[in-house]
Amino acid sequence: EITAASNFIRTMIHQQREAGQAQDIVTRFPPEPNGYLHIGHAKSICLNFGLAEELGGACHLRFDDTNPEKESQAYIDAIQEDIRWLGYQWAGEVRFASNYFEQLYQWAVHLIREGLAYVCELNAEQMREYRGTLTEPGRPSPYRERSVEENLAEFEQMRAGAYPNGAKVLRAKIDMAAPNINLRDPILYRIRHAHHHQTGDQWCIYPSYDFTHGQSDAIEGITHSLCTLEFEDHRPLYEWFLRHLPVPSQPVQTEFARLNLNYTVTSKRKLKLLVDEGIVEGWDDPRMPTIAGLRRRGYTAKSLRDFCDMIGVTRSGGVVDINMLYFALRNDLEHAARRAMVVLNPLKVVLTNWKEGEEVELSSPHHPAREELGERRLPFTRELYIDSDDFMEEPPKKFFRLAPGQEVRLRNAWVIRCDEVIKNAQGEVVELRCSYDPDTLGKNPEGRKVKGVIHWVSAQHAIPAEVRLYDNLFQVEAPDADKDTDFLEHLNPDSLQVVQAYCEPSLALAQPEDRFQFERVGYFCADRYQHQPGEKLVFNRTVGLKDSWAK
Ligand code: ATP
Ligand code: MG
Ligand code: MG
Repeated sequence: EITAASNFIRTMIHQQREAGQAQDIVTRFPPEPNGYLHIGHAKSICLNFGLAEELGGACHLRFDDTNPEKESQAYIDAIQEDIRWLGYQWAGEVRFASNYFEQLYQWAVHLIREGLAYVCELNAEQMREYRGTLTEPGRPSPYRERSVEENLAEFEQMRAGAYPNGAKVLRAKIDMAAPNINLRDPILYRIRHAHHHQTGDQWCIYPSYDFTHGQSDAIEGITHSLCTLEFEDHRPLYEWFLRHLPVPSQPVQTEFARLNLNYTVTSKRKLKLLVDEGIVEGWDDPRMPTIAGLRRRGYTAKSLRDFCDMIGVTRSGGVVDINMLYFALRNDLEHAARRAMVVLNPLKVVLTNWKEGEEVELSSPHHPAREELGERRLPFTRELYIDSDDFMEEPPKKFFRLAPGQEVRLRNAWVIRCDEVIKNAQGEVVELRCSYDPDTLGKNPEGRKVKGVIHWVSAQHAIPAEVRLYDNLFQVEAPDADKDTDFLEHLNPDSLQVVQAYCEPSLALAQPEDRFQFERVGYFCADRYQHQPGEKLVFNRTVGLKDSWAK
């Protein structure tokens, strides 16, 4: 059912191989450890690790850790866990751009010696002003013509901690009139007196992304450096460094379109805001589009990989419909999830013609198409719970569920008829008195058709559970499209509803992260952290059975 869409990078590498190149490919996934990975990263992970896997190459995991203040070990750990959970393993040790700080420093010195870099003392505002615009060339910094000796001495002082944050930067000396602004003497090093999670207090100057990325690729022998389209304009700079430095290899950068999903934000900055403001319960809240959130919601790793195959890899962007993600999810859960009956809004049913105290054990397969999973036992007694949505006192035509005088089949059991409706003082229905037809177990009743089937649990055996009904976090398709509106204004106030449900007894020992189809209701997953088998059951709604919310 899932068909892979085209992937131009894969096609390109196959063509390179036919031409006798790219025999040994090395890719890398280079997250910055400043947040959790999200669904967009999954696309990059599947692309990089997937190509290496398919083509017998290697994929490195390299933390792009050049902004110490925003990064942390906790993010590093979470990112590794998510990649492994997705089903991938990096080649060799985990790598860090910070492993290469000394080499990068030496290469910066090399550029200075070649007259290709200088220490500049313009402040940020002046620097912006000197840089020019798309239509106007920039002007040279007054520090641009410093001597090599002076630059070497200044840069050494920067490293030695002689200057405060922001006092000076090291810049490449390229072309202040270049049409591509990235080539107008870009910054190579900034002063930042900050503790680094890997290098401690060893450094108080940190290299820029541009000065770090390509050289790290070269050090690691990356052949195909795949990144998202916003780096297309940085490619000339990426190549400039590789050309002017004695790097050990010549990686090639290729850009592809980012994944954008409707009803979703995929920007670490915005996701972090949701966490920091307490709008969600953490990076792995089941409503978050993070890998950890999706996992906790009940997504399978396979469904995320299938989704990435389905959307393919192209050079131009677009917005992917979230229903494609749901499709991949349901497609996998249909096979993966065991069945269970769970009543979300319990309404008591008493079978007046069932002998008091009598218990019968019925059964049903754990999965209709997977005999090997065996059967679950379904105790049946005089008092049951059904879902109150399956009863209407004054039903419209074609309401094939329960109503006064109307019959319905209890799933895996008998046909019952509602004889009497019991209400409380407020006029609310609190109980139904019904009779069952003993001649209808596993067969149709004589002389009449019963169309509806509803689920139920035996009241005495029902196991209470907290069920969290999650919905989309945002109620509009493009929550962050309008730059003038705060994306938080589009939050869905009903993204979480918690109900106390009753479960069939087979769920008592469900393990954290076990996935189920609650029959007629949807797919659910035992919460990874709060569900305690036999003690406190907590289930998260993963997705409905059908496309119900595409409003
Ligand atoms: P964000 O904008 O969310 O902070 P980022 O690109 O800054 O994302 P990184 O940690 O630098 O986050 O990303 C690691 C890798 O994942 C990069 O190669 C990046 O291009 C890729 N990536 C990030 N977001 C997406 C996305 N939405 N679709 C595809 N690839 C992505
Ligand atoms: Mg980045
Ligand atoms: Mg970022």
